Amino acid sequence: MRENKQNLDPSRKPKGFLGAGVAPWAGFGVTLRTFFAKPVTEQYPFKGKYPDPYPRYHGRHQLNRYPDGLEKCIGCELCAWACPADAIFVEAGANTPDEQYSPGERYGRVYQINYLRCIFCGLCIEACPTRALTMTTFYELASTQRADMIYTKDELLAPIEEGMLAAPHPMAEGSADDDYYAGAITAPTAAQVSWVEQNRPGEPTLPGARAVAVADELATSGSPAAPAKGDAA
Ligand code: SF4
Ligand code: SF4
Repeated sequence: MRENKQNLDPSRKPKGFLGAGVAPWAGFGVTLRTFFAKPVTEQYPFKGKYPDPYPRYHGRHQLNRYPDGLEKCIGCELCAWACPADAIFVEAGANTPDEQYSPGERYGRVYQINYLRCIFCGLCIEACPTRALTMTTFYELASTQRADMIYTKDELLAPIEEGMLAAPHPMAEGSADDDYYAGAITAPTAAQVSWVEQNRPGEPTLPGARAVAVADELATSGSPAAPAKGDAA
């Protein structure tokens, strides 16, 4: 039979008559206090918003872009190989002069993460050599449809930020993929903007990218000390 630990503690004095009589009512005091306290139950997701998780929370993944809009994913599949749950599927495609989506030879043509398998361990982001894959704090991933839980590249790709130029377009002139990895490319260049103007004149990200490229050119020509586009930072 399991022995009562309290009785085995020699330093503990037994309760007196009064203490033994009041002890059960002290316990009920906690119940009574809680009974009249304001409920803390969250009616999420029907009312209000669940508090934001901590910044390092492992939520939905994101495929990142470089500041000029090219994709960071090079389709190397290292994330898929590192995944212990076999949740990632990657199929690479070859970049061509007419369709360059990422620096270098290849890009992630097909990219899927199956969130019915993912255990949010983060091993995939550790394996990624270009920091293309990171995890956001977004956690609202529930669905009643199995197919909805397989996120595709267009759902995972980071949105185009102000001043970026949507891919495909050539790499910054005179740059190599190493310059991108080193963070030397900070915005679209005039040549990239001009290429998209000729090949996709209706591209919605053109006006913002053009404004950034023009401002950058002016800053570079007006100040000899400013680094030229593509120079290492
Ligand atoms: S977080 Fe873990 S389980 Fe989920 S895709 Fe990445 S490696 Fe796989
Ligand atoms: S996300 Fe990273 S590891 Fe995965 S295929 Fe793309 S570059 Fe490779």
